[in-house]
Amino acid sequence: MSYEPTEEFQRAEKAKARELRKSRWWQNRIASSPCYYCGVRLTAKEATMDHIVPVCQGGTSTKGNVVPACKACNTAKKDRSAAEWALEQAVQPLAVAAELHHVGDDAQQQ
Ligand SMILES: [Zn+2]
Repeated sequence: MSYEPTEEFQRAEKAKARELRKSRWWQNRIASSPCYYCGVRLTAKEATMDHIVPVCQGGTSTKGNVVPACKACNTAKKDRSAAEWALEQAVQPLAVAAELHHVGDDAQQQ
């Protein structure tokens, strides 16, 4: 993707995101919705705001472009768009994720 938004645009959208995070709409959203990516239940404290199309790719801080995400997903996704990230995830065999999950269970038993 060659489109690069200006510094001013990114600053403005990040400021808008901060405002949106304080809004009642967002509070309701995170209270009623799980992580957009993995479906884990979120508490208000755990929920992060993720831009489906990141600001650095020209995404805006509007209700249609922000979703609640857990910290792990937000960190893993970084500055990729949701579509790019989904593609990348699809490449990873589900068996790997299941195996990792299993290891976690074993560790807890010991
Ligand atoms: Zn998640």
